[in-house]
Amino acid sequence: MNSQPSVSFENTSIAFSSKSDAALKKMHFMFRVMNYPLLVNLGTNFLKIALKLRLPVKPLVKRTIFELFCGGESVEDCREKSLELNKYGIGTILDYSVEGTENEEDFERIANEIINTVEKAGIEPKNPFVVFKPSGIGSNVLLNKIQVGEVLSDHQEQAWNKIKGRVNNICEAAFQKKVKVLIDAEETWIQKPIDHLVYDMMRKYNSDQPIVFNTFQMYLKDMYQKLQNAYSDAVKFNYQLGVKLVRGAYMEKERERAQTLGYQDPIQIDKDAADEDFNKGLKFCIEHLNKIALFCGSHNEYSNRYLTELMGNHNIRPDDPRIFFSQLYGMSDNISFNLSNAGYNVIKYLPYGPVNDVIPYLFRRAEENTSIAGQSSREYVLIKKELARRRANTT
Ligand SMILES: Cc1cc2nc3c(=O)[nH]c(=O)nc-3n(C[C@H](O)[C@H](O)[C@H](O)COP(=O)(O)OP(=O)(O)OC[C@H]3O[C@@H](n4cnc5c(N)ncnc54)[C@H](O)[C@@H]3O)c2cc1C
Repeated sequence: MNSQPSVSFENTSIAFSSKSDAALKKMHFMFRVMNYPLLVNLGTNFLKIALKLRLPVKPLVKRTIFELFCGGESVEDCREKSLELNKYGIGTILDYSVEGTENEEDFERIANEIINTVEKAGIEPKNPFVVFKPSGIGSNVLLNKIQVGEVLSDHQEQAWNKIKGRVNNICEAAFQKKVKVLIDAEETWIQKPIDHLVYDMMRKYNSDQPIVFNTFQMYLKDMYQKLQNAYSDAVKFNYQLGVKLVRGAYMEKERERAQTLGYQDPIQIDKDAADEDFNKGLKFCIEHLNKIALFCGSHNEYSNRYLTELMGNHNIRPDDPRIFFSQLYGMSDNISFNLSNAGYNVIKYLPYGPVNDVIPYLFRRAEENTSIAGQSSREYVLIKKELARRRANTT
């Protein structure tokens, strides 16, 4: 019998309960600006040029889009926002969002920073996860060479061993502190060596509980099959499979490269096909929870609701420790806060890093929140609705 609490993602009073009127008005202004594709385009181009010319734009970025989507520049800066979310039962994942480095010194520094987040997560039971992007701790070029089977020079071999060492150090630290590690998925042309590495880590650290999580991008045609294969391996080698399920963030890049190099596009034929496999993936995980822990990373209302229904149909409690719902900081609070209010495990990614280094991340968020086909973004509509509700309550 389905005894699951019903969740409404329309309840803006719960969604924005942590926001003061002033904070909400500021968000309203920001999302309103982002609604205009032309302004986002002009703004991002202006910023790119300003940063190249070293113009002093950092304070402007920091007070606007950075504040909206990031926790701060350092782990310490994130504390306030993290505690605020914890008050509403929502956990946070410190996400060091520095991108685009290609040198060993930076890789080493970023790996140490991630271990620092493990230490912090280890002492905050409400924030039991850490996350990293493999391309942050190793060269994309090298990962691609390994993927296509190129013979490596001694120097490259050493660099590859360093990547493996860094991944192991992070997973080992997490294992010691009983913190879960999410390993983000990126482009398909570097994913094979990462997958090998991640499954090595699962065999090593996931025998008793899910510590290491791989990411399954369901916008890829072959990913549902890969999820099933990963489960079979977990059964065969007797470990817990950590599954982070997402749709996938690199569609345009993937399609463009496939077309330029003349190989088959790995992305699903259309959005419906990606949605169908994502939801099939959720169902598969719920039906195999004996060996799977599921982390659902999505802003899609249907998929989040569908997961609550699957849990209900299988008599799984909302706070079952094997299932987590997750959204990005600054986005889809209507999903996060309403799920948390109904008792589900919700964790928000809280990106942080020096302002200049998280700019690519901020541009992606701004683009995501522009209007599509003349329709205002969902965030903007919800904030407007909540402001109107508050105005009506005070008159
Ligand atoms: C907590 C969290 C963690 C994440 N981690 C990762 C990660 O490690 N790696 C990663 O790649 N992404 C990651 N993402 C981003 C994610 O993959 C999606 O890009 C983003 O969340 C939008 O998808 P959605 O499920 O929220 O819903 P929706 O907004 O309903 O779906 C949009 C997505 O559908 C897919 N799509 C859209 N149009 C088409 C089409 N024509 N054909 C096929 N597919 C289409 C694309 O994946 C697109 O991003 C993460 C997201 C969250 C919330």
